[in-house]
Amino acid sequence: MAVSSQSIQQNYDLRKAISTNRLIGLWRMLTGYRLKYTAATLSLVVSASARMLTFQLLRYFVDNIFIAQDHHIGLPMIAAGFIGLALMDGGFSFISGRLSAQSSESVTRRLRNYLFDHIQHLPFAYHDQTATGDLIERCTSDVDTLRRFFSDQAINAGRVIILFIINFTAIYQLNPKLAGISIIVIPVILVVSILFFNKIFKAYEAYQEQEAVLSTTLQENLSGVRVVKAFARQPYEISKFDKDNWEKYLRGKKLYVLNSIFWPISDTICSFQILVGLYFGAMLTINHEITIGTYIAYAGMVILVIFPIRNLGRLIVDMSTGLVSYGRVMEIIKNPRESLEDGDYLPDKDVVGAISFKNVGFEYEGDHKVLDDISFECQPGQVIALLGSTGSGKTTLVNLLPRFYEATHGRITLDGIELNRYPRRYLRTQVGIVEQEPFLFSRSIRENITYGVGREVTDEEVENAARAASIHAVIMSFPNGYGTLVGERGVTLSGGQKQRVAIARTLLKNPRILILDDSTSSVDTETEADIRSALDNLMIDRTTFIIAHRIQSIMQADLILVMDGGHIVQRGQHNGLLQEEGIYRQIFNIQTRIEDELQKEIAGV
Ligand code: ADP
Repeated sequence: MAVSSQSIQQNYDLRKAISTNRLIGLWRMLTGYRLKYTAATLSLVVSASARMLTFQLLRYFVDNIFIAQDHHIGLPMIAAGFIGLALMDGGFSFISGRLSAQSSESVTRRLRNYLFDHIQHLPFAYHDQTATGDLIERCTSDVDTLRRFFSDQAINAGRVIILFIINFTAIYQLNPKLAGISIIVIPVILVVSILFFNKIFKAYEAYQEQEAVLSTTLQENLSGVRVVKAFARQPYEISKFDKDNWEKYLRGKKLYVLNSIFWPISDTICSFQILVGLYFGAMLTINHEITIGTYIAYAGMVILVIFPIRNLGRLIVDMSTGLVSYGRVMEIIKNPRESLEDGDYLPDKDVVGAISFKNVGFEYEGDHKVLDDISFECQPGQVIALLGSTGSGKTTLVNLLPRFYEATHGRITLDGIELNRYPRRYLRTQVGIVEQEPFLFSRSIRENITYGVGREVTDEEVENAARAASIHAVIMSFPNGYGTLVGERGVTLSGGQKQRVAIARTLLKNPRILILDDSTSSVDTETEADIRSALDNLMIDRTTFIIAHRIQSIMQADLILVMDGGHIVQRGQHNGLLQEEGIYRQIFNIQTRIEDELQKEIAGV
C-alpha cells in the first residue's frame, strides 16, 4: 500500500542507526519492530520450556509410575500432559517463526527503501567515486545478509541464551553436581568461537569486497558492450572477468574452509561434553545419588543445555557476516545527502536567464584546478558556445549551472542573484540538458517524453513537442505509437532518434536555460538536418550553452569561449575569432580541410 510505505519512510531515519558499536547499530535498526521481536523471542522461550517440561514429566513417569507404581495420577493424565506440552512446543515455535519472519522482512524492506531514497539524494561527487556494481552489491547482497541476521541469527541468539538458562536451572534442580559437570566446556567453546569470529569476519569482508569488484566488472562490461565489441576486446574482458572470478573463488574457499574447520571442532567439543555428562550421570545413578528417572531426564536435558552452547558458537561466527554487512550498508548512509531545498531565494516565476561568471574556479575533490579564473557574461536568450579539446573543462563548466557541483572559487550569478541562493530543485526545473548520448528508460516513449515534467500533460502537448523535435513521424511509424516501449522489451532507437526524444522531453519541460552537448557529428546528413531543426526549435528564447565539437554548429553563437586546460584562451564571435591567431582558427582550418576532402571523396574526384 502506497500510503503505509510512505509513512514508514517519513518516520524513519536510518542515520540514527549509525554507531561504532555494530551490535548497537543493528539493534537501532529494529526501531518500531522491537516489540514483535521480543515477542518472537519469548514465544521461543515458551516453546523451549515446554520441551524441558516434557523431560520433567518423563522423569516423574519413570520414577513414580513405572518404578514406584504410584498411580496417584492416572496414565491418561500423563498422556494428556505429553500431548499438551508437544502442542505448546510446536504452537509457540510457529508463532515465533511468524513474528520473526514478519519483522525481519519489514525491517529489511524499510532498509531497502531507505537506501534507495538515500542514494537518490547523494551528490554527483559521491557517484563519481563509487562504482555502480559496488552500490548494487551493497543494496542487494548485503541487505540480504542483514535480513538473515535479523530473521535467524539475532532471534536465535536470544533464544539460545534463554534456553541455556532454563535448561541449566532445570538440571541444577535435578542435581547441582550434574549441572556443574554439564558446562565445563563452555569456556573452551567460547574461546574457539571468538577466535573464529575474528577470522571469519575478515574473510567475509574480503569476500564481499571481491563480490562487489566482480559485479562492477560485469556491470561495466554490460553497459559498455558496444565499446567492447567495437574494439574486439572480448578476450581481454573475458580474462579480466576470469581473474576477478578466480579471486572471488579463492576468497570464498577461504571462508568455507574456515567454516568447515570450525563446525567439526565445535561439534567434537560438544559431543565430548555430552559423553562426560552421561558418564558422570551414570556414576551418580549407580551410586544412588540420583534416580533412574532423573538420569533419563538428564540424558535428554543435557543435550538441551549443550546445543544452545554449540549454536551460540555457530551464531557468534554467523553473526560476523551480519556485522560486516551492517558496516558496508552504513558506509553509504554515512554520506550526507545533497539538499534539494538549500537556498534562501525561491522566485515564484521562471528566471530570465542572464548569467555571469566572475573569476570562477573549480577542483574536484583533492584534485588540481580543472577550471581557473573563468569570467564571462551573457544576456537572456543568448547562445554561448564552448569549444576546446577533451578535458579542457567544458562539461565541468556547464555542470556548475544546475549546481551538480559547486564552484570552489569566484561567483556565479543568475539574474543578478548568487547561484547558490537558488534551491537546487528550483534550478533544475530551470535548466534543461540534452546530452550527447541521452539515456532513455525502458518505459513507453510517452513516459520518456513526459519524464520529469512534474505536471499532467495532454497527448496534444506531447505530440506538439515531438513534432517540434522532428520525431513525431518516426514514433507514429511504430505499431504502438507513443505507447511503444523503448529498450530491451520494445523498439531500439538510433542515436539520432534517442536524441530527438530527449529534445522533445526538454521542450516539454520548457526550461529557461539550456545545455546542449552538440553531437550531430556522429549522425547522417538527413538525421542531422532533423536534429538541427529540432534544436533550433528548442533554443528559441532560451539562454543556451552548447558544448561544441564542430565549428559549423556554432558559427551563429553570440559568444564563443575557446577553452584549454581549464582556462578561457579566446573569446568572441566566429568572424572575429577567425581573424585572430589561435586555437579557433586552427580547429576551423583542420575541420574545413577534412570536410573538403570528404566532399571530394564523395564526388569521386
Ligand atoms: P571536457 O568536457 O572539456 O572534455 P571535462 O570538464 O569533462 O572536460 O574535464 C575537465 C577535467 O576534469 C579533466 O581533466 C577530467 O579528467 C577532470 N574530471 C572530469 N570529471 C571529473 C570527476 N568527476 N572527478 C575528477 N576529475 C574529473
